[in-house]
Amino acid sequence: MINVTRTYLPPLEEYTKYLEGIWERVYLTNAGPLVVELEQRLRDYLGVKHFFFVNNGTIALQIALKALEIEEGEVLTTPFSYVATTSSIVWEGSEPVFVDIHPETLCLDPAKIEAAITPRTRAIMATHVYGNPCDVEAIEAIAQRHQLKVIYDAAHAFGTLYKDSSVLNYGDVSTLSFHATKLFHTGEGGAIVTNDDDIAHRIAYMRNFGHNGPEAFWGVGVNGKSSELHAAMGLCVLPKVPELIAKRKALAELYDSLLDGTVCVRPALQPHTTYNYSYHPILLPSEEALLQVRDALNAQEITPRRYFYPSLNTLNYVRPQAAPVSEDVSTRVLCLPLYYDLEFDQVRLIASIINQAL
Ligand SMILES: *Cc1c(COP(=O)(O)O)cnc(C)c1O
Repeated sequence: MINVTRTYLPPLEEYTKYLEGIWERVYLTNAGPLVVELEQRLRDYLGVKHFFFVNNGTIALQIALKALEIEEGEVLTTPFSYVATTSSIVWEGSEPVFVDIHPETLCLDPAKIEAAITPRTRAIMATHVYGNPCDVEAIEAIAQRHQLKVIYDAAHAFGTLYKDSSVLNYGDVSTLSFHATKLFHTGEGGAIVTNDDDIAHRIAYMRNFGHNGPEAFWGVGVNGKSSELHAAMGLCVLPKVPELIAKRKALAELYDSLLDGTVCVRPALQPHTTYNYSYHPILLPSEEALLQVRDALNAQEITPRRYFYPSLNTLNYVRPQAAPVSEDVSTRVLCLPLYYDLEFDQVRLIASIINQAL
């Protein structure tokens, strides 16, 4: 059985070492020493100013919206993302307005943003799809012109560089997911990143019930904290990230050398990007071709994933809106297995099954 992804687990002894420390301290959460250490190391690794480790990538999006005071009105967002991008906007009381994606990069298309702006528009929430950066400069210019906040759902973009620095440095806030299926993971987990001191202050208290010391409160908050057990996993996985990315890169290059790029079309990387190889999507010529390929792989116990499918503008809890590029792409895109433990021969097998099915 070869699944689309497989969680990287560090050697058990490494995790156990951290557990011994936790057992000695008998201190499991509330800014414990491992959480503090992981935050410091990730802040340095990613090269960002403020970094908050939280318990998942969805609460990260919700706190980001709260911290920017986006609690009503419209948020321009991408229909081509994981459902959490849209659901967090709805959950926090705003209305998602879908801006279609660029047909090659598959990220929100800046050329289509301004036509969607109304007097009720408050923010842009865009996803760095598959770890490929949005056109961050074009989005920033539009946001400045119209005084909109920018949140990047960077759940896929851990370690991606744009112009040699972390893509997390763009926008007012970026959020990450450290779910077990992500490139860097803590089992469950996520993070909120900002370079703005005032926003950072709000995030800091909002993820901890609003606390200002034990007996006072800055304002309303939620429980976004994570635990020592999750931080320990992160501390074990983080040193391995360069090796994880290098192996994924080699596997991705092998796929590309074996598959016909005019039939299995790869999304275009944003220029000036150092990619993190978090996913390996291919765009097939039609949904029929996709189903043929998927069924042929499934018959050999190989399970690629239709990701992202369906297009989020078709969710039953959003106002119906057209997004023809996203709707088309979502019917034809397939993410192939890509993970550290995947073997080169398995990539050869997968590629030959795909080539035969087409
Ligand atoms: C994984 C993911 C999320 C949600 O993160 P969780 O940690 O699972 O809550 C949000 N957006 C995108 C694009 C994702 O891939």
